[in-house]
Amino acid sequence: MRIIDTRLKVENLRVYYFTSRGKVKAVDDISFEIIGNESIGIVGESASGKSTLGAAIIRSVNPPGRIVQGKIIVNGKNVLELTDSYFNREMRWKKIAVVFQGAMNSLDPVYRISDQLQEIMQEHKIKGDFEQLIYQALKDVGLDKSVANRYPHELSGGMKQRVVIAMALLLEPLILIADEPTTALDVLVQAQIMNLLKKLKAEKNMNIVMITHDISLISEIADKIGIMYAGQIVELSSSSELLINPKHPYTQA
Ligand code: ADP
Ligand code: MG
Repeated sequence: MRIIDTRLKVENLRVYYFTSRGKVKAVDDISFEIIGNESIGIVGESASGKSTLGAAIIRSVNPPGRIVQGKIIVNGKNVLELTDSYFNREMRWKKIAVVFQGAMNSLDPVYRISDQLQEIMQEHKIKGDFEQLIYQALKDVGLDKSVANRYPHELSGGMKQRVVIAMALLLEPLILIADEPTTALDVLVQAQIMNLLKKLKAEKNMNIVMITHDISLISEIADKIGIMYAGQIVELSSSSELLINPKHPYTQA
C-alpha cells in the first residue's frame, strides 16, 4: 500500500465578501492538495482572489469576508472546525505561517527588530536563549546579527522582507504561505528572496504556498502551479507541464 502524505488539502472552498453592493465571490469553489515536499504556486491577475485564498488557509479573512463553504485539512484536521483558541495556540505560526502581502511595511517602526522577534517567542512561550534564537533566525534568512539592534527604517526593502520571513519561520511551521513576497522589490532583490525561499524550503522541509501575479518568478520554487481567475483555479498542473503546454487561454497569455 502506498501511503499518501497529504500536507494540505483545500476542498470546495468558497469565500465571499458581503458588501452593500452585493456579494463578491472572491474564492469560488477551489480545491487542491499538496503532498510530500511539494510546494504550490498560485498565480493570477490582480483581484482574482489569491490573497483571500491565502488568508482563508490561515483563518484570517477579514469582514465583510466570510468562509461560506469548504474544508482546509492540515495534519489530518479541518482547521475550519477548530475553536479559535485551539487554532491560535496550536496551529497559527506553529503549523501554518504567513507572510502577508505588504508585510514588510507593517513592521512596527518604534521597536527594534530583536524586540519584534522576541515578542513572538514570548507570546508562544518559547523557552531558550532569546538572543541566540534571534541571531539564528536572522542567520537563516541571510541577515547579519547586527540587524537585531536596528529599527525597520534603517533597513532596505530586501532586508525588511527577510525579517518578516524570519518572523514567519520562528516557530518552524510546516506550511508557509507567502503572498507576493517580492512585490515592490527590485529585480535583483526579488531573485535573492526567491532563492532564499527555495533554500529554506529544502532545509526546513516546509511546504510553501507561493502567491504571485508573476508566473516567471515561481517555476523554480513551485512543483505545481494553480492558475487563478475570477475566484477559481482554472488550470492546475506541474510547473514544467504548465510552462511548456498551457491549456487555459489565460495561462497561455
Ligand atoms: P488578489 O490577491 O488576487 O489581488 P484579493 O483576494 O485581494 O485578490 O481580492 C479578490 C476579490 O475580493 C476582489 O474582487 C476584491 O475586490 C474583493 N475583496 C477583497 N477584499 C475585500 C474586502 N475587504 N471587501 C470587499 N471586497 C473585497
Ligand atoms: Mg493579493
